[in-house]
Amino acid sequence: MANSKIGKQKHIALVAHDNRKNDLINWAKKHREALSQHVLCGTGTTASLIAEHTGLTVKAFKSGPLGGDQQIGACIVTGEVDMMIFFWDPLTSQPHDPDVKALLRIAVLYDVPVAMSQSTADFLLTSELMGEEYDRNIIDYSVIKRSV
Ligand code: PGA
Repeated sequence: MANSKIGKQKHIALVAHDNRKNDLINWAKKHREALSQHVLCGTGTTASLIAEHTGLTVKAFKSGPLGGDQQIGACIVTGEVDMMIFFWDPLTSQPHDPDVKALLRIAVLYDVPVAMSQSTADFLLTSELMGEEYDRNIIDYSVIKRSV
């Protein structure tokens, strides 16, 4: 089980579907200074593009369709990722839609802050909580299920 505390330094996963990559790159450029205070990772193509356009270090997992979303989901479970900016495409279905759904489910299960649009990402990154420790509320669903 992941540690429920999010430290002052966040471990942020960055993911964007192809039609949203430019938006995420521009957002990352705008918040470059703030992002440089944290540990960044992302799905393969997104991570490389953001590193290239901002100069920030972004650890690259596999490309999303090749399992990158699942790798990030696994990192949420182990506590290696505790925040996510995920610009998914609301107008195009993806070959890995089941992985996208699984990633969003695991993010909610572990109470990881997730931004899926530019405005939410702006609000999230400028929150005073970005510079503080935060105690997540990780619900133990297994206990809830057993007690029904
Ligand atoms: P990509 O993957 O960054 O490798 O393009 C993103 C995704 O489609 O989940």
